[in-house]
Amino acid sequence: MKQAIKFTVKDKLKNSLARTGEIKTQHGVINTPAFIVGGTKATVKALTPDQVTSLGGQSILANTYHLMLRPGADIVNEAGGLGKFMNYAGPTFTDSGGFQVFSLGVAYKKGIDKVSHSQKGESGAAKATQDQLAKITNKGVHFRSHIDGQKLIMTPESSMELQHKIGANIHMAFDECPAPLADRPYIVSSLNRTHDWAKRCLTRHQELNKEHLDKNEPLQALFGIVQGARHQDLRIQSAEYISSLGFDGIGIGGVFETGDIETEVKWVNQTVPESLPRHLLGMGAQPADLFLGVEYGIDTFDCVAPTRQARNGAIYTATGRINIRNTGFMRDFSPLDKNCECYACQGFSRAYINHLFRSDEILGAILASIHNEYFVVHMVDNIRQSIVDGTFYNLKDTTLKKYY
Ligand SMILES: [Zn+2]
Repeated sequence: MKQAIKFTVKDKLKNSLARTGEIKTQHGVINTPAFIVGGTKATVKALTPDQVTSLGGQSILANTYHLMLRPGADIVNEAGGLGKFMNYAGPTFTDSGGFQVFSLGVAYKKGIDKVSHSQKGESGAAKATQDQLAKITNKGVHFRSHIDGQKLIMTPESSMELQHKIGANIHMAFDECPAPLADRPYIVSSLNRTHDWAKRCLTRHQELNKEHLDKNEPLQALFGIVQGARHQDLRIQSAEYISSLGFDGIGIGGVFETGDIETEVKWVNQTVPESLPRHLLGMGAQPADLFLGVEYGIDTFDCVAPTRQARNGAIYTATGRINIRNTGFMRDFSPLDKNCECYACQGFSRAYINHLFRSDEILGAILASIHNEYFVVHMVDNIRQSIVDGTFYNLKDTTLKKYY
């Protein structure tokens, strides 16, 4: 059976888990490590697909939960799949919808976020799981649409069917993401369920790929998700189990603080075979997260923070984050970041972008989004090159010293 993707490891960094590689898909190659641009609702907010490509984005990740509710997976399918529907020619990912049915399905617009650098250890999934707002059974998750309150159920099988209709190159298995601070017995039972769901996902996925093969359609790839929260033995057990099942890659799920990379991510990546690509699900886009993630073996990241924060006026610079709305920038005629080569930093000033934000002009969000996305995509590109050049630790030290 021909492969949906082909992953090759190229360079390795001595005495670490870091490596470079490439993921070949039917829509092009992703050079890894890579930052996958967040395109939740089949759009990267404020950016055209051409802008995503020209700022260096190699791939886009959309969200199954959002697309199943609106416009519906059937419409995306009738359009010819995610890439055609959004007019994006590059490689695409979808996540399983699992995290969102726990969080958005029960807690939409309550200020809950997956990455909780400020609210230690509590995530939407965590709260939802603990409060039993979304009802989890071994069959799947019962939840309500955040759009119209309709009662719905998502199962491992239905997540696979939805993702095959949406038709991204790389899909994620449907898993349960427990609160990191939930008690161990709960984490164990949740992990058992995630493992059972992983097997069911793979079975349904293989049936659907067989149908694609029969119809001479392109095959789709599936990553299995490793859970286990902050327990070393459970993370290792999960990494061993998931990588034994025959997935095309590994997704590392959980609710992470930066410090968890040196433990949870390391345990997993020390355990899974080198030959599988490893995706860190929805971690932040902080420089420390990116450097540590790569150092401990991550090949691809995704996060919507760069564009979301851009729309709020939070701009990434080499010396830390600034808020471009501040009055202090009204007469600052320098670019957002003087060393940045993105379109927004060529000729547009902080003063002008400050004016756009203060006047609620849409171009402010566009320029800020181009800049932030470029900043993160290029930071990961530079990290990738530093592995090739053997300068990773120099780059890490100088970048993080400036930033923090
Ligand atoms: Zn820039």
